[in-house]
Amino acid sequence: MEKAEVVICGAGIAGVSAAYSLAVEQNISNIVLVDENPPLSQTSDHSTECYRNWWPGPDDAMVAFMNRSIDRLEALARQSGNVFHLNRRGYLYCTAHIEKARELEQSASEISALGAGPLRVHRSENSAAYQPLQAEGFEGQPNGADLLLSPALIRSHFPYVSDRVIAALHVRRAGWFSAQQLGMYLLQQARQHGVRLIQTSVVGVNLAAGRVNSVYLANGAEIRTSIFVNAAGPRQAQVAQMLGVDLPVYNELHLKAAFNDALGVLDRSAPLVILSDTQRLNWSDEERAWLTEQDEYRYLLDELPSGLHTRPEGGADSPIILALWEYHTRRVEPVLPIPEDPIYPDVLLRGLPQLIPGMGSYLHKISRPRVDGGYYTRTRENRPLICPLPVAGAYLIGALSGFGLMAACAAGELLACHVVGAPLPPYAPSFALGRYQDAAYLSRLDSWSASGQL
Ligand SMILES: Cc1cc2nc3c(=O)[nH]c(=O)nc-3n(C[C@H](O)[C@H](O)[C@H](O)COP(=O)(O)OP(=O)(O)OC[C@H]3O[C@@H](n4cnc5c(N)ncnc54)[C@H](O)[C@@H]3O)c2cc1C
Repeated sequence: MEKAEVVICGAGIAGVSAAYSLAVEQNISNIVLVDENPPLSQTSDHSTECYRNWWPGPDDAMVAFMNRSIDRLEALARQSGNVFHLNRRGYLYCTAHIEKARELEQSASEISALGAGPLRVHRSENSAAYQPLQAEGFEGQPNGADLLLSPALIRSHFPYVSDRVIAALHVRRAGWFSAQQLGMYLLQQARQHGVRLIQTSVVGVNLAAGRVNSVYLANGAEIRTSIFVNAAGPRQAQVAQMLGVDLPVYNELHLKAAFNDALGVLDRSAPLVILSDTQRLNWSDEERAWLTEQDEYRYLLDELPSGLHTRPEGGADSPIILALWEYHTRRVEPVLPIPEDPIYPDVLLRGLPQLIPGMGSYLHKISRPRVDGGYYTRTRENRPLICPLPVAGAYLIGALSGFGLMAACAAGELLACHVVGAPLPPYAPSFALGRYQDAAYLSRLDSWSASGQL
């Protein structure tokens, strides 16, 4: 029987970053990474690839965790000559409503106080203190956030945004990168340190005296190991069942569309632009009558949630933009390929002009957009699970929801610290399964408001 020090189930970004930290940083030499699919080809290949340290409380765990992950991302970018094209254009949260602007300012002060960096408020058109974004690279950019409260200042830097926008919060330790290139860089390093990849499914885990003893594979092999890491993404609950463990996670289907912005409406150096306002879509009388009849789609006549966002994709000569809007959250059992949603691009195109009026030119005229997506596997409070499981030798790196790419570098490190018994960072207990055994924590959870998720 083959032997390994560690078997990791899943070669998405979670499994790959765990393999990297265990092999490269903790010097574990005999690690096997098992995935039935090619590495990084599932959820990790369908994200928007964005990152930010800007996460709500109630405590500083998420901000500290993301700051750590971004520190590590930046270090890897420097070390690799930025092979994964990390930029720092920021996230721009926009509102056209005065009450929402006050809320943005209030929540920004709270997040800043959690360690996400200073908040600078700019009330006049000529605020010299506002440092414009730099489209490429990530060095020499401000931390924290800039709250722009002058519509003229907003328009001078972001002319494509609606002139109804009166406040824009520009979060600065944020941007995007190539998830594939980051993952491949980590995987390549891990393989150079002896990590082996096996393409098949994990079908069972054998326990002896209550501890992990071996792992069964669909190709008929059995690998003797004392450490098993569940990094199975949307299927992590199923894989945990192989150990007899119930995970408090569920899956939501999230879609994204890639459009051809042939008219160049969105500037190629734009940040991730987000609408913080809810909206009602404009429908013709005929469409309205049709929607009224449809049980499945009638909600599209209602007020739809905030959070619609878009960004340019590719270099200066690419016409592609990505757009996402979670106007209808679907908690589902994960099936692949993801189910088709024929109306998603149309709804997006009707929502986008509220934020970027020029996008209105595309309604009914755009060539077929490409829609893809995947599952946010999440806990109720939208914090990850990176911890030992209640079976000796078993660990989980999961519940990475809509932040798995940005969190990957700190998540892999935390997982590896658990495995080797190294000192844990202060945020570790916030991401452990044991938090759900704490009655005081559970009762506090009911009063948590924002999850920070887009
Ligand atoms: C539309 C969308 C937008 C997103 N945008 C962002 C973003 O901007 N920034 C960000 O940080 N995150 C984003 N995310 C979230 C991010 O993509 C995920 O958190 C991350 O990819 C999860 O990685 P994973 O490794 O846990 O899962 P996956 O990438 O799904 O990997 C899990 C792997 O486990 C394998 N597997 C499962 N069961 C078995 C088994 N029994 N045997 C062998 N292999 C198995 C699967 O084949 C798969 O390869 C987004 C997600 C979506 C869907």
